[in-house]
Amino acid sequence: MSISSYDGRALINGKRVEALGGQTFDCLSPVDGRRLTTVARCGQADVDAAVAAARAAFEDKRWCGLAPAARKRVMIKFADQLLAHAEELALMETLDMGKPIKYARAVDVNSAANCLRWYGEAVDKIYDEIAPTASSALALIQREPMGVVGVIVPWNYPMIMAAWKIAPALAAGNSVVLKPSEKSPLTALRLAELALEAGIPPGVFNVVPGYGPEAGSPLALHMDVDCIGFTGSTRVGKQIHVMAGQSNLKRAWTELGGKSPNIVFADCPDLDKAVEAAVGSIFFNQGESCNAPSRLFVEASIQDQFLEKALALAPQYLPANPLNPDTIMGAIVDKTQMETVLRYVESGKSEGASLLYGGEQALSETGGCYVQPTIFAGVNPSMTICREEIFGPVLSVLSFTDAAEVVRLANASVYGLQAAVWTRDINKAHGVARALKAGTVHVNQYDEDDITVPFGGFKQSGVGRDKSLHAFDKYTELKTTWIRIDSPV
Ligand code: NAD
Repeated sequence: MSISSYDGRALINGKRVEALGGQTFDCLSPVDGRRLTTVARCGQADVDAAVAAARAAFEDKRWCGLAPAARKRVMIKFADQLLAHAEELALMETLDMGKPIKYARAVDVNSAANCLRWYGEAVDKIYDEIAPTASSALALIQREPMGVVGVIVPWNYPMIMAAWKIAPALAAGNSVVLKPSEKSPLTALRLAELALEAGIPPGVFNVVPGYGPEAGSPLALHMDVDCIGFTGSTRVGKQIHVMAGQSNLKRAWTELGGKSPNIVFADCPDLDKAVEAAVGSIFFNQGESCNAPSRLFVEASIQDQFLEKALALAPQYLPANPLNPDTIMGAIVDKTQMETVLRYVESGKSEGASLLYGGEQALSETGGCYVQPTIFAGVNPSMTICREEIFGPVLSVLSFTDAAEVVRLANASVYGLQAAVWTRDINKAHGVARALKAGTVHVNQYDEDDITVPFGGFKQSGVGRDKSLHAFDKYTELKTTWIRIDSPV
């Protein structure tokens, strides 16, 4: 497929359409700065049209009226469509947001397809409840789809973030209006076409690309949207909850930022593995991961040894052309984000952290947006790089001397998304894991991930959980039906 054929128009009621006002924006590639296509710049009128289409589809039951087993079959076809178009989707994702093609194909396409398949397969295996009431009545407790679900997602894993929300929402029978990030809108639009080809009826899954305040806010404020599933920054997530309250009290679920602590004790069972995980996880996806372990706490007695090993690995992560199948560190999503990351590097230097590696823009001759993998040591908890989410390839290393101290430091964050602890002492592992305020705690690894387990955070990392059967809670309402039984026998 040639890049010039990428279609940036919205998809509303089963059709590709320009924004009603005719506005567009340029979709630029961070790989080399080239313009990939123009994209519909949707606003209030387009969101109104998409919500009206979604509402009509919900009310005439063209999708929610199907038996769960029938929706399952379509969801599985939808997943198969992603795999059948895997190369195309991976290339689009890489060009649009800069991640290495190797991971776009092996991680993003596969995870998104797996997610669609898993929720499809689950939906005809979930039973409702009968409450243990007195025998003079029967109380049925049933889940019903909410109606119209608005979905707003970020740019770091465009297909996966969309799939985590649209899969349970669609499988449960809702209609969806998705607003992808303006920085990476292309794969979401293509997913909606593949959904139609798989048999999801027109109007059930709509996509309105555009900027946050222009297309996202009208969705979050819409009086006919029943629920909003949001992934993005904590700053915008707070606004989403305000908008939900200001409008129709729609259910609002937010998956937000993180500043995850990774704690390595001197009795870590395998120091090489701990170093590989610490370095590999912060630099994966160019550091643009909400759960990246960006605060590394190393017990003082092993810090020199740990840093020596980390510095030996860092050069492997120097950025390269994301289209090269061997590349493991690609481009930062755009110039604005690259400049943000470089500003944080400057703040680390000026606040007194020691820059041990990287810290510079790279490959500027390509016209793309690249930053070297960066390691700071001598970081203290009050420094900006230790408190704020950078969302780039920047690791802050701190040292500690005992478990109580490190738990206090690790929990001293507004975020609580993930955490890790490395130790061979089972009591210490459990004790520290319990004490950490995080939605997920890893022990002696940082890679485990599965669609069957919930994903989400404590504190200002958000409200609600993506993935697992728990995600159905977000996109369904519980209804109780009381039936009186005047038994003749
Ligand atoms: P962002 O908050 O800037 O944007 C996210 C989405 O919200 C985009 O689609 C954007 O257009 C939209 N938006 C922006 N302003 C809006 C407004 N006023 N009203 C409605 N919508 C608006 O975040 P980002 O820069 O795209 O993504 C990075 C953030 O996402 C990081 O903080 C990261 O931690 C977070 N994230 C969290 C998870 C998670 O599961 N917890 C996963 C991925 C990313």
